[in-house]
Amino acid sequence: MRLVLLGPPGAGKGTQAKKIIKDWKVVHISTGDLFRANIKNETELGKKVKAYLDQGQLVPDELTIALLWDRLDREDTENGYILDGFPRTLAQAKALDEGLKERGQALDGALALVVPFDVLVPRLAGRRVCPECGASFHIKDQPPKKEGVCDLCGHELIQRDDDRESTVAQRIRVYEDSTAPLLDYYRSQGKLIEVDGNQPVDRVEDDVQKALQEIQ
Ligand code: AMP
Repeated sequence: MRLVLLGPPGAGKGTQAKKIIKDWKVVHISTGDLFRANIKNETELGKKVKAYLDQGQLVPDELTIALLWDRLDREDTENGYILDGFPRTLAQAKALDEGLKERGQALDGALALVVPFDVLVPRLAGRRVCPECGASFHIKDQPPKKEGVCDLCGHELIQRDDDRESTVAQRIRVYEDSTAPLLDYYRSQGKLIEVDGNQPVDRVEDDVQKALQEIQ
């Protein structure tokens, strides 16, 4: 199964992606995670993209598309994948379709998590993540057992720099301007599946499961 996961920052894409990869035995590819790993390891790419992430701006398409194919062309994607955070622009969506076509492949669907904008800011501002294993928590909605400590690996939790309130507003604006038009793009291809992301997380998981079973 080849799937893209759409939705504004804070819609729960990462959480749903983690569940889907377990159930469907596909790999989770998050361009945001790939960029953050490059920044952490101080690679050439990391140095080029850091300012964009810090300011909540999109990394230029050229760099992002090259990064994506570099990852998609690895062997572990043979059984399928879920793309989280890509595409974010029409140019990226078209590049993905064209690249897949050249490889004799196609997307199975675009799953969009629909969440009203007013719940996104508190969701993101309260998010705490583990820089070691990538687990994600929320100070109110999903607190770790011990405050500030990852339940899974015991590492100290951090707040992503771009989850601070000033940057969050900018990221939501960027989503509205550049990424929301992708809903129409995939709708016109008959590939869009919309799921209400503003419900308890297990209800969202159930709805996602049902939707995915339909496209298989
Ligand atoms: P995310 O973890 O998906 O919220 O992404 C964090 C940041 O990484 C974004 O705010 C962008 O700066 C950058 N980024 C991730 N994916 C993309 C993409 N597909 N296109 C451009 N920039 C991206």
